[in-house]
Amino acid sequence: MQGCNLSCIYCHNPETQKECCLCGICLETCPAKALLITDNKIIYLKDLCQFCDKCLQVCPYFSSPKYFRITAWELSNYILKYNEFLNGITFSGGECTLQTPFIIEVSKQVKNNSPLTIFLDTNGYVHQSGWELICNHVDGLMVDLKAFNSKTHHYITGVDNSLILENIKYASRQGLLYEVRTVILKGINDSQEEINNISNFIKELNNYTLFKLIPFRPYGVKHPLKDTVYPDKNHFEKLFQMAKTVLGEGVKKPLDISL
Ligand code: SF4
Ligand code: SF4
Repeated sequence: MQGCNLSCIYCHNPETQKECCLCGICLETCPAKALLITDNKIIYLKDLCQFCDKCLQVCPYFSSPKYFRITAWELSNYILKYNEFLNGITFSGGECTLQTPFIIEVSKQVKNNSPLTIFLDTNGYVHQSGWELICNHVDGLMVDLKAFNSKTHHYITGVDNSLILENIKYASRQGLLYEVRTVILKGINDSQEEINNISNFIKELNNYTLFKLIPFRPYGVKHPLKDTVYPDKNHFEKLFQMAKTVLGEGVKKPLDISL
């Protein structure tokens, strides 16, 4: 979903952060003439697109000409059409909780008409009342915890982590905290203390939440730090094993961690 309330330095899909402001810059770089601006809207002609992503690379406003609007009714019907091939759906972004009323509406329609589960992949930076509301309508949450140290978290995301930590605790109490995820950035949040703190924080919450450590990769990243935050493979492995000593089998990493 389009739009985000954080500005992470390692964002892999920065084109999802903001809405298009119709500046027209991407129109000039599109080799296929697949983009138009008309009636104060950007039009993306998918049939002409060569999928080169030049439009995403040149957009200076962290947006994309390719996102589109859809009603809750349209999306629910689309999901329900494929119901028999699915176990569930996950909303992600951007930050999906910025569109909580939409998610609730889709969730109601999907749950009333299928056994599908509804999960969110979220940064957890949501006002308490909004978080409690959305927790009533989903089956599980994957929440990013970009750093345990508050200053480090602020450096990575632009915001303090106290609200996120409280929301993680609330989700845990509701039995909804499926997974906590941390992207490991060299020299920024890759200290043993940092990973130890996150592991122990999760351990004290419950005995069911998974902790997923993800090595930073530079794909799609626009921030100037993209060439310096690649973690060392041995160091990543050491952090992973350290988390395992606290959480046992409750620790995961991506299957492919070629660094
Ligand atoms: S990806 Fe973007 S720039 Fe490339 S052809 Fe498609 S619309 Fe044009
Ligand atoms: S997608 Fe970006 S570059 Fe293209 S018109 Fe919108 S704001 Fe401008």
